[in-house]
Amino acid sequence: MKEKLQQIQAEAVRRIQESDSLDKLNEARVAFLGKKGELTAVLKGMKDVAKEERPLVGQLVNETREAIESLLDQTKEKLEARLMEQKLREEVIDVTLPAKKAEIGHRHPNTIALEEVERIFIGMGYEVVEGPEVEYDLYNFEKLNIPANHPAKDEQDTFYINKDIVLRTQTSPVQARVMEQGKLPIRMIAPGRVFRSDEVDATHSPSFHQIEGLVVDKHITFADLKGTLEEFAKELFGPETKTKFRPHHFPFTEPSAEVDVTCFKCGGSGCRFCKGSGWIEILGCGMVHPHVLEMCGIDPEEYSGFAFGVGLERIALLKYEIDDMRLLYENDTRFLKQF
Ligand SMILES: [Zn+2]
Repeated sequence: MKEKLQQIQAEAVRRIQESDSLDKLNEARVAFLGKKGELTAVLKGMKDVAKEERPLVGQLVNETREAIESLLDQTKEKLEARLMEQKLREEVIDVTLPAKKAEIGHRHPNTIALEEVERIFIGMGYEVVEGPEVEYDLYNFEKLNIPANHPAKDEQDTFYINKDIVLRTQTSPVQARVMEQGKLPIRMIAPGRVFRSDEVDATHSPSFHQIEGLVVDKHITFADLKGTLEEFAKELFGPETKTKFRPHHFPFTEPSAEVDVTCFKCGGSGCRFCKGSGWIEILGCGMVHPHVLEMCGIDPEEYSGFAFGVGLERIALLKYEIDDMRLLYENDTRFLKQF
């Protein structure tokens, strides 16, 4: 019996020493000390041992068991320590490595142009006002003197949510909303996104941005409009810039005009940029139609005003000499980083 136990112990020691992982060590524990383990089998066989020999054999079995258990524990500690060391080595942070560069965002040319326009008008005492992009037909068309049969209302030009609600085709409805509030005088610009069912090409997009301006006060004349826009053009394109007003028609202004500025590339002598004319068209404007004032609850006998609208993309394209509007929407960082 004693020999048998020594044999088991030697075998156990060998298995334990060979264990190079906690899993293998556990397998060894089960093989010798488990319910069906070899040492357990010896204990189960005690009933066949002669009565007077039992205490001695029992002691031997216990000694063997303790020896194996103690070796198991020591080995387990060693393996765990080794595992921890390995983990620490693998997860070490090398502080001498160059850091990952944090990519900081870049302002979009549209945003830069908008901030420039806002700066100019805020400097002249204007307020920046925003309004809803999903707008009632009433504000987008009717209150701006655009009758039901006007071609602009065609479904080919306008996105309809239902027959009364549209995606605004201009930022002018913000003007109607401000006029309705009845706080006079008004000096405001309304920048924002507008929508028209256009196909995408170099100069068109179904979604683009407008900045509209409105001034309503007593004794406002066309001279105020001209002076304001001349000042705006000089601030935006340089002090040498001249402006030209051409008669035009808009339903919500009377009289109406389109404004050209002298080409800031050639100074007006004509070049490829201005297609040889020396002039570049930048915006539409006019005196607010008395009917529009009336519909918004303002007495046209007492008050008058002017309004203008400029495409933000148009300004960004001109200012940064970008020849395709699509570039503004693709958000290719290689393009955007240039501004
Ligand atoms: Zn030119």
